Amino acid sequence: MAKVLIIGAGGVGGVVTHKCAQVPEVFSEIVLASRTESKCKAIAAQIDRRIETAQVDADNVPELVALIRRVQPDMVIHVALPYQDLTIMDACLEAGVHYLDTANYEPVDTAKFEYGWQWAYQDRFKEAGLMALLGSGFDPGATSVFTAYAAKHYFDEIHELDIVDVNGGDHGYAFATNFNPEINIREVTAECRHWQDGQFITTPAMSLHQSFTCPEGVGSFNIYRMYHEELESLTRHYPTLRRAQFWMSFGDSYLKHLEVLGNVGMTGIEPVEFQGQQIVPLQFLKQLLPDPSTLGPRTKGRTCIGCIVRGSKDGRQRTVYVYNICDHETCYAEVQSQAISYTTGVPAMIGAKMMMQGQWMAPGVWNLEQLDPDPFMADMNTHGLPFSVIDEPDYEFRS
Ligand code: NDP
Repeated sequence: MAKVLIIGAGGVGGVVTHKCAQVPEVFSEIVLASRTESKCKAIAAQIDRRIETAQVDADNVPELVALIRRVQPDMVIHVALPYQDLTIMDACLEAGVHYLDTANYEPVDTAKFEYGWQWAYQDRFKEAGLMALLGSGFDPGATSVFTAYAAKHYFDEIHELDIVDVNGGDHGYAFATNFNPEINIREVTAECRHWQDGQFITTPAMSLHQSFTCPEGVGSFNIYRMYHEELESLTRHYPTLRRAQFWMSFGDSYLKHLEVLGNVGMTGIEPVEFQGQQIVPLQFLKQLLPDPSTLGPRTKGRTCIGCIVRGSKDGRQRTVYVYNICDHETCYAEVQSQAISYTTGVPAMIGAKMMMQGQWMAPGVWNLEQLDPDPFMADMNTHGLPFSVIDEPDYEFRS
């Protein structure tokens, strides 16, 4: 029986709250806190269980520590923004509670993310006897566990990894992002990096793409190679990887809008002076775009996210595809959210469950692929994100 404090009442926070509420035997008490408490109350009102709510500024460590000391949770699930990773980790250390997030730290004023800042907390979490689980969403998160599961059960050694994230859904808007627009656009416009023979190779954003046909009739999509944070941890924890790439599908309308917005300076993160006020163009753009948590009722279609892993087994070359397919409308019927928030929120709940039930509880800072994938995979099947495995799928990837 555990008390959990969820921080962040956006699209993902809503799903995590719903999913934790579905597992009362583990999460006996739930508190949802965010910058805007009315959003916490709106989520709590959707759920047929008592959810306590609170207001907090997660950029402010003393405020966080005061909240954690008052609430006394066993752990914090952080699903606010990547900007708050370090302040929330600091507060967890000071107040003595475990920590979980879904995205690695990113400074507000530099569009750059890497695990280094959070891995630097290793000794402090270990010495405090506390656990920090990093990146327990879908990608990173489920994709990290899929890779570990493939490596454990299908290979002696893994050599190539292609993570493919397809959103075959349609929300009907000419341009909208499926999770926080600011974070999404910073990620998509960043230079691409992929792992090749012991080092990261940098190429221009969106400069390589190809077609990908999903299994189970989801469809064929253009996927674009881009940098994604799990490449950093997976290549570190699987040093036998010779190549590791991440691919995401984008529609023509999304890319056309993004190109124009970039050309006119609307995706910039440097403040500009406008009518006597400093504004950040990307933050202003976020205000104009649809809130991702409102896309649920209008999104149709399926996501298909998984890992194609190549390596050797008993001296022979082998390829395995581990994936999940998730239907936007089914998610909405269950938790009033589209599948992108759902596929992030469910692994966050499962990661927290693994920690609170003791299967994954160990002091220190961890990425998911470092832990036993089996109990997590079993829970994916029972909590709404069942996985499938195709042995010897017929895929080739450009490089
Ligand atoms: P949203 O923008 O919908 O929600 C973010 C929430 O955090 C909002 O409620 C916001 O409050 C709150 N928040 C922001 N700043 C603060 C602060 N200083 N103090 C307290 N609360 C704050 O984002 P999403 O739900 O789409 O995404 C949440 C997280 O999940 C992000 O970190 C994102 O990168 C990550 N993610 C991970 C994925 C994965 O697969 N690993 C996939 C998708 C997302 P307010 O409402 O007041 O603005």
